[in-house]
Amino acid sequence: MDRISFTDGLNLLKNENLLELGQRAQGTRFQKNKEPIVTFVIDSNPNYTNVCITDCSFCAFYRKPGASDSYTLTVNQILEKVGNAQKMGVTTVLLQGGHNPSLPLEYYLTLVREVKKKFPQITPHFFTASEVQTMAQVSNLSIQAVLEKLKEAGQKTLPGGGAEILSERVRKRISPKKGGPEKWLEVHRTAHQIGMKSTATMMYGHFEEPEDILTHLEKMRQLQEETNGFTAFIPWSFKPNNTPMQRKIPKRSFPNYYLRIIALSRIYLDNFPHIQASWFSEGKKVGQMALQFGADDFGGTLFEENVHKATDHINQTTVEEITRLIRESGFTPVQRDTLYNRIKEY
Ligand code: SF4
Repeated sequence: MDRISFTDGLNLLKNENLLELGQRAQGTRFQKNKEPIVTFVIDSNPNYTNVCITDCSFCAFYRKPGASDSYTLTVNQILEKVGNAQKMGVTTVLLQGGHNPSLPLEYYLTLVREVKKKFPQITPHFFTASEVQTMAQVSNLSIQAVLEKLKEAGQKTLPGGGAEILSERVRKRISPKKGGPEKWLEVHRTAHQIGMKSTATMMYGHFEEPEDILTHLEKMRQLQEETNGFTAFIPWSFKPNNTPMQRKIPKRSFPNYYLRIIALSRIYLDNFPHIQASWFSEGKKVGQMALQFGADDFGGTLFEENVHKATDHINQTTVEEITRLIRESGFTPVQRDTLYNRIKEY
């Protein structure tokens, strides 16, 4: 398979006929994953705290420390949520939260240990790169030391959130207090080097230009070349409601652009095993269409979700509906685990 250059990628994103782009991406998808199956995971995405000191202007979820509607859950409250998720058949819990400086490292380690002990069937897919940086800051440890402690506690994977667009120019506008592109890459590089796997994400549809999207994809491709630690790439569009950025951005996250990005990602990220379609953030019909544009995974059931909900974006599903949507798109639905191992064919 010939690797395409930054300039070729930019040209595909800006100029290629959408259906031809989709056909090419689908060809790449079937070269990589020959079987006509589409995977999904039964998961839940609770949050342990909405307290955050990072003030990203695209975020409607966080509250400043001391705000009347701020919250931080105890370990037991989170275990109760995980227990309830397990009763619904969940195998992956994606746990994230704000950057709450009052939480000690031991809080995070106890969470991982207790979930592993009490719910061995559940994979703790916990904490994005910027939360790992917060843990390193509050504990005065290196990123590597924190990741090793999380791994020792039983964590094997990291979710890819918090990448937004890996462009310094964009970061300065939307999340100037966040670690930034190099830090995000450092956390994932280190995680991969100590044997953890992770996903990679991209949130577009705000101040980025097509060049920033290509820069993002290029950085992801380079790191994957170095470590081979990413399992999947998951792009989604920015949801502006209730965020400080709401009135400042040109609205341009239309479904055709999403499909263009899915297809480009499949073609450009030739060393990524999977591209994930998001029924949740883009809508079920668009999620189905993404399966014709290079995506081979349908994401998770997301039984609990609060971050998009804070922007009034609410979408829900069931296992039955996901399997039906995948079948309607012409594929066999296969339930997977966090590491993309197959659990059950439907
Ligand atoms: S996106 Fe994360 S880091 Fe940024 S303000 Fe929201 S909770 Fe805090």
